[in-house]
Amino acid sequence: MSETVAQIVHPPSAPRRERPELSIVVPVHNEADNLPLLIERLAAVLTPAVRSWEVIAIDDGSRDGSLAVLKLLHAADHRVSAISFSRNFGKEVAIAAGLDHAAGDAVVIMDADLQHPPETIPLFLEKWREGFLNVYGQRSDRAGEGKLKRNFAKAFYRLFARFGETELPEGAGDFRLLDRKVVDALRALPERARFSKGLYAWVGFRSTGVTFEVADRQFGETKFRFGKLFSFAFDGLSSFSTVPLKIATWTGAVIACIATLTAVFFLLRTLFFGTDLPGFPSLIVSIMFFSGIQLISLGLIGEYVGRIFAEVKRRPLYLIGERVGLPAGAVEVQRGEALPPPIGSNLT
Ligand code: UDP
Ligand code: MG
Repeated sequence: MSETVAQIVHPPSAPRRERPELSIVVPVHNEADNLPLLIERLAAVLTPAVRSWEVIAIDDGSRDGSLAVLKLLHAADHRVSAISFSRNFGKEVAIAAGLDHAAGDAVVIMDADLQHPPETIPLFLEKWREGFLNVYGQRSDRAGEGKLKRNFAKAFYRLFARFGETELPEGAGDFRLLDRKVVDALRALPERARFSKGLYAWVGFRSTGVTFEVADRQFGETKFRFGKLFSFAFDGLSSFSTVPLKIATWTGAVIACIATLTAVFFLLRTLFFGTDLPGFPSLIVSIMFFSGIQLISLGLIGEYVGRIFAEVKRRPLYLIGERVGLPAGAVEVQRGEALPPPIGSNLT
């Protein structure tokens, strides 16, 4: 029997998974040691708390055999499934992939290192059943983190509150429960630079916080060194605020005013008192100063242009290398479907 065109274009997809009540999305980067205990603790907490659950682990280019561990865990319990990226795409992208593949009525996002205690999930569920669609975990303290990181985080939240377009609840991270409605809204957002903390807040919906205590990392060490955090913060600010661009303009304007006043001052002084010394030092200093300002402004504009470039390329957000327990093509979508088709696509 020959296949119909429709069948070739849309091959019959693998039987759709049943929709569990709760999906747990876990980004994984070199967490082989943590995974067995994570699944064990999750199973203990979730089984009495919900009708059905699944864990979707996203192996974000691990090199420590995390994927092999995930395969073993899947063999032992089919509620655990995984996808593995072709390389390291970063935690934000891993979360996006997890949301693409999670089938639950609600989705909890949590770290693999047990810093987000599974025991907090029932509290999330309680709020969800009360009708909150976006329940975020708020850390009660950041004692476990270094002083530098803590101060940096504080400064970031302050900056964001002042200049960002959306309000970020302080201390709220990725550990949270999202209702299906919120997940679908997030998946519909086309952007590549995914600052999810900002996106969670941007989509809105009835939200509330649940405090939890950040536990110590079980095994391994943090993957976010200071430099990575800094670029992450800049990503966040620049995707939710155009103030950095304005800073360049304002600084430029102020400097230009000062320069004009100085010029007038020098002109008058020369007119009334004559000139004494040709001012080489001041000349050099001012040239350097202005070049600096111009470079800063150019750099800022460049950052935004770079981001526009990244969005315009429309590359897929991630590439999947392997799937464990997840049928291909079942739930994937093309991000950015809402965008108009590329120019020229209908010229026939
Ligand atoms: N992670 C990831 N990709 C990365 C870096 C981290 O998926 O490139 C995962 C990591 O496995 C963990 C979570 O993101 O589950 C948080 O990472 P980590 O604990 O290192 O960050 P911290 O808790 O120090 O902020
Ligand atoms: Mg951690």
